[in-house]
Amino acid sequence: MAGRVAGKVALISGAARGQGASHAKRLVAEGASVVIGDLRDEEGEETAASIRAEGGAARYLHLDVTSAEDWAAAVATAEEEYGELTVLINNAGIMSLSDAESCSDEEWNRTIAVNQTGVFFGMRAAVPAMRRAGGGSIINISSAVVNIGSPGIFAYQTSKAAVVAMTKAAAASYGDANIRVNAIAPGLIYTPMIDDLVNDLEGYDPDRDELPLQVLNMKATGENISTTVVYLASDESAYHTGDLLTVDGGMSIGGLFSEG
Ligand code: NAD
Repeated sequence: MAGRVAGKVALISGAARGQGASHAKRLVAEGASVVIGDLRDEEGEETAASIRAEGGAARYLHLDVTSAEDWAAAVATAEEEYGELTVLINNAGIMSLSDAESCSDEEWNRTIAVNQTGVFFGMRAAVPAMRRAGGGSIINISSAVVNIGSPGIFAYQTSKAAVVAMTKAAAASYGDANIRVNAIAPGLIYTPMIDDLVNDLEGYDPDRDELPLQVLNMKATGENISTTVVYLASDESAYHTGDLLTVDGGMSIGGLFSEG
């Protein structure tokens, strides 16, 4: 199949729904084969089936990113099913609302386990496969909140800042193996994660209140991030590594919860 990522094999965590599902569809449309991993088995199977129904190569498997065993199985499946693994997208993530004072041990540990350790486990599992493939591209999903101070998401912001540090550290280690490692910092993207967050905001009425988070007057969806994912997954970004690409409609320059 022709396309910007023709022949590439991508493993995407947290891709049953939301941005990850969008990335899977877009990569397949550009010629890749994708393995979708998530905890949401039913939604993940549906996402993979919908890609196959359009003639694309997609397969779902259960992947808890906090499990090193699950990661080993996911990498092995990708190689067995589609051949050399050349793209990893560490996309799975969770968010919750609390600050340093109110964050429970459980919330802290779970957030770090999924958003931070999950990315480490993913890279540790995929790098040997990418060495076998002669190179690859790792794309770690951080968040634009790391560019600014954000109230009420202490554990989340901490974990997403660690993703940037891990990205730079890994990029510095694996350049000689032709493995590029970059991070993306999305702004406010309308996915189920944001629906859940909005439901948790006391007094917030989505019909009445806009969240003035950015300078561009648009509601972004996963597609607005998938374009950057395709660029980083493709050979168009051959000279690009160790970077954080902020795609946030200007949130980072406008200020979170500013007057807009
Ligand atoms: P989402 O909640 O729709 O998707 C996240 C997916 O991750 C879900 O399918 C969920 O089941 C999966 N997941 C959660 N824990 C997992 C685990 N332990 N193992 C495997 N999968 C797991 O949210 P989204 O907006 O699509 O988020 C995708 C990524 O983008 C996340 O890392 C998120 O933090 C990040 N992000 C989101 C926004 C936003 O505004 N939506 C902004 C910046 C960054």
